[in-house]
Amino acid sequence: MSGYHSAQVDVPVRLNTNESPFPPPDAWLDAVADIARSIQWNRYPDRAVTELRETIARRHNVSPANVFVANGSNEVIQTILLAYGGAGRCVATFEPTYQMYSQIARVTGAEVVQGERKADLTLDALEIERVLTRHKPSVSFLCNPNNPTGIIEPRENLETMLAHTTGVVVVDEAYAEFSEWSAIDLVSEDKPLAVTRTFSKTLSMAGLRVGYVVAPKQMIADLEIAVLPYHLDSFKQAATIAALGFVSEMEQRVDLIKSERARVFAAISDMDCDVWPSGSNFILFRPRSTVASAVWQRMVDSGVLVRDFSTTPRLTGCLRVTVGTPDENSAFLGALSTALSTN
Ligand SMILES: *Cc1c(COP(=O)(O)O)cnc(C)c1O
Repeated sequence: MSGYHSAQVDVPVRLNTNESPFPPPDAWLDAVADIARSIQWNRYPDRAVTELRETIARRHNVSPANVFVANGSNEVIQTILLAYGGAGRCVATFEPTYQMYSQIARVTGAEVVQGERKADLTLDALEIERVLTRHKPSVSFLCNPNNPTGIIEPRENLETMLAHTTGVVVVDEAYAEFSEWSAIDLVSEDKPLAVTRTFSKTLSMAGLRVGYVVAPKQMIADLEIAVLPYHLDSFKQAATIAALGFVSEMEQRVDLIKSERARVFAAISDMDCDVWPSGSNFILFRPRSTVASAVWQRMVDSGVLVRDFSTTPRLTGCLRVTVGTPDENSAFLGALSTALSTN
């Protein structure tokens, strides 16, 4: 096997990993300084994560027994796969999608079945039905909006998944705040549906490593069996509770990112590129008559880093840019325009 790679290059404008371009609010930093002094560092953390789960549950109008928190949504995904995947079972993904689903599924011993999106990168409900009825996966992943395409899934695709699944359906909503709809409202005790969220993107806290899942109570109980004891440290629990006091401030930033997304999308569309409409904080595009890897290198040379998918199966020739600050986006558009016109 090989590991998960996202090239990091030390350049002034880094638009390759879909983080927020803004740091968390200063008031949160002040709260964190107080928290650091009030922690009982000699004691293990609250293993049940009581207060943080209550705070998240209020945000989504569910019970704390419907919430499981971990160190980033990647750890949530890993815990789901430890609980429901493993040797002798299979896990379904619909490609191209977030690479960690198949990576973690394989590392934890499951077989991966890959459904295919159409050439335009949308996902056909018939393909979902085919994969689920034929392979009966224990876990099926739907990423909405999908990374790295940015495409918002039609609700019908989730309905088809729920209608045909014999296992667990995971909807990964890492970019939910930028999107048009969320599956969280559909979570109920009688459906095998789990919806994951993260603090890494909209909430400007990729450095804190927190993510969570909202799911039926039985599923949360299963995840608690699979996860290590005390996996969520005291500092993180308190810092995350404090962060949830700034959600409305964070949501205002979402509006700025969305208007910048529209500007960047329009500008790329005017260049010699195919570009996919995005419901997220990043945009996938494909240079039409210049080799994508050369475009990527020229942009790096001018100080702008985007994600290179040009040799990834099903994404040949594609690059992905994260929407940054207005200045970063202008730097990106200038670098792209120059890179496309150089021979
Ligand atoms: C960024 C991202 C995540 C976030 O992972 P964390 O571990 O929470 O940082 C999860 N899923 C998708 C699709 C992502 O793009």
